Amino acid sequence: MKKSRFIKNLKFYFLGFLAATAFLVWFVVLTLPPGDSVSVNYLDVGQGDAIFIQTPAGNQVLVDGGPDSIILSRLGRLMPFYDRSIDLMILTHPQLDHMAGLIEVAKRYKIGRILTTGVLYNSPAFAEWQKVIEEKNIPVTIAKKGQKIRLGSGVYFEILHPEKDLAGKYYSGDVNNASIVGRLSFGKNSFLLTGDIEAPVEIGLAAENGANLASDVLKVAHHGSKTSSSEEFLKAVGPKIAVIQVGRKNSYGHPTREVLTRLGQFGTQIFRNDINGTVEILSNGRELKVKTER
Ligand SMILES: [Zn+2]
Repeated sequence: MKKSRFIKNLKFYFLGFLAATAFLVWFVVLTLPPGDSVSVNYLDVGQGDAIFIQTPAGNQVLVDGGPDSIILSRLGRLMPFYDRSIDLMILTHPQLDHMAGLIEVAKRYKIGRILTTGVLYNSPAFAEWQKVIEEKNIPVTIAKKGQKIRLGSGVYFEILHPEKDLAGKYYSGDVNNASIVGRLSFGKNSFLLTGDIEAPVEIGLAAENGANLASDVLKVAHHGSKTSSSEEFLKAVGPKIAVIQVGRKNSYGHPTREVLTRLGQFGTQIFRNDINGTVEILSNGRELKVKTER
């Protein structure tokens, strides 16, 4: 009698031990920092932009989401299955090739905060975007030039554009030029994100803000359209590496020969989603490492 109770209890102790070790392993996996590098993934989502950033502290940022739900499988490859949250979601501007995928992500993941210009746009997708934010009660920060967002472990995202507060307003010109431009920095390395800005905005930035533009890696504006990547801008940025987010055989003819030539003149190494697949660039604060899918 006594013996059998002991055996019975032993079974419980053993199960308890198993649960405790399982919890311990789980806890270690969950809290383990991904390393000492910032990882910037220019995701292959076809014709559109989607950039997934992970900081050494484990903060995750998604800048734009591409044209459709393909972003979900791309994130699934990078994030462990139990990780259903993204700390910061950034919408550069409300066009489908940047916004549609974010709607899908916002529906399925817990989003800590959204950073956007708040510019209004007339489209069914934009109405859906606003509805998802409201329904899921996601906090929104309006991006303005001069803001510096701390992402932990010495990683910063500085907003360089737009200058004006666009929240709740329609943009008077091409909404591409209302894109958030931001510079991600870690130690000596920096990454410039440009959305779809065109030459007039680029030239304005180069004239007033040259010093802050200098970056190791440039996300080429507007998928390599010839109306962007002006000489003045490339000179001010001086990128060692350029990433062009384009889909294979896209109907726009992106990237254009003009932009490829201009980048070539600056000796910039070019990576493209249509050729290289997803492009991951790692920085340890001193040097960069590029990993491509193809
Ligand atoms: Zn675009």
